[in-house]
Amino acid sequence: MSIPDGALVVDEAGVVAWCGRFADLPDALRTADVRDHRPGFLLPGFVDTHVHFPQTFSYDAYGGEQLLEWLDRCIFPAEARLRDPEFAELAAGAFCDRRIAAGTTSAMVFGSAFPDAQDALFRETRRRGLRIVSGRGIQTDGPEAASALVTSEDDALALTRDEIDRWHAVDTGDPATARLQVAVVPRFALSVTSRTLRGLGELYDDVRGRGVYFHTHLSENDRPGTGEIAQTTQKFGCRRYLDAYDGRFLPDSALGGASLLGRRSIFAHAVHCSDGELARLAATGSSIAHCPTSQQFLGSGTMPWRRTARSGVTIAIGTDVGGGDEWLIPQVLADAYKVHMSEPAAVALHPAQLLFSGTLAGARALDQESRIGNFDVGKDADFVVVDPSRWPPLDAALDYGIRSSDAELARDQTLFTLLTAMREPAIAEVYVAGSLVA
Ligand SMILES: [Zn+2]
Repeated sequence: MSIPDGALVVDEAGVVAWCGRFADLPDALRTADVRDHRPGFLLPGFVDTHVHFPQTFSYDAYGGEQLLEWLDRCIFPAEARLRDPEFAELAAGAFCDRRIAAGTTSAMVFGSAFPDAQDALFRETRRRGLRIVSGRGIQTDGPEAASALVTSEDDALALTRDEIDRWHAVDTGDPATARLQVAVVPRFALSVTSRTLRGLGELYDDVRGRGVYFHTHLSENDRPGTGEIAQTTQKFGCRRYLDAYDGRFLPDSALGGASLLGRRSIFAHAVHCSDGELARLAATGSSIAHCPTSQQFLGSGTMPWRRTARSGVTIAIGTDVGGGDEWLIPQVLADAYKVHMSEPAAVALHPAQLLFSGTLAGARALDQESRIGNFDVGKDADFVVVDPSRWPPLDAALDYGIRSSDAELARDQTLFTLLTAMREPAIAEVYVAGSLVA
């Protein structure tokens, strides 16, 4: 819905009390303080469902090849630097700065292997007032380049459990209202052993009821023989990649433990899933963090939009910084538009679909649709103020771009320009639950 000259009324608790045309504002609300943002725009806060904290300084890192080589050459060494608590503190501040600049009010954050670094991330996020779900990156297996990030299997489980106990919903004591929440986060199937997968399944079964999340990568690089998908199915002997996370990590996809899928489970990428894998994700209420910017950067291919959407799985958007070299969700949405327009089964994503993917779909993936994602009365008021005058190219495109004589199409064209021509300087203010974050 688009409301020209609209008003968003936020109550003292930071909850949306009313949303509609300013002219229709009920008398009882007319006494409120009014902040006039005309001719700007209010949009729901952006939701990034896949972003890597320990890669804060690793976007636009030249690795020369695709995913696995880029991890070895650029990412594992960069993530090892967070072993130094002072550096981790610096990274946590910079990470929150970038989130605020980009208007990302909620995020599923792939964490550092190091508990001190995760403490710094949660502390800083709390101080800045942002929403976060994060968990330490779990690795119990991997190449030499990852050795600083690898722990024993027992330590991996103990550190994960400890992080949940220390940070999950600690800010309010209730996951239904908390801004700080924890996820169980193995980097991907290649970074853990089958024993670890069994242990994580037991652990996750234990903590699901507390609202803990699960997050990992799925089906990203399909280079024949040596890519991530080929190596995963070879390593576990499973028939399809998703089975490794679904308790079926034994040869021939035999059941070896509990499933990690569910309505608080988000899988990044899912570029090359079979129809059966997509159906299983949908049936379990799991979600996909779609990261088209990263998929271009690492040559991972294009997630088939029509086939994936048809499966019924929730498709939210992720920057995947640093595989993605863009922090701003609207720019990732612009990439989504371009890559799906260029698919064999080309689709021109509607501007409202783009906005939905970067906001309410993210809230749904986080199982927080009843709290955030749009301006429905009763939700927390998470929003960004976009002031086009702060980014003249956006201002000019809005002022002088061609618009249809059809009012609805003209509205959609304006939204498309707003999203795709926006850059970070245009985001003037960012609010979480009605409070300005800075
Ligand atoms: Zn990633």
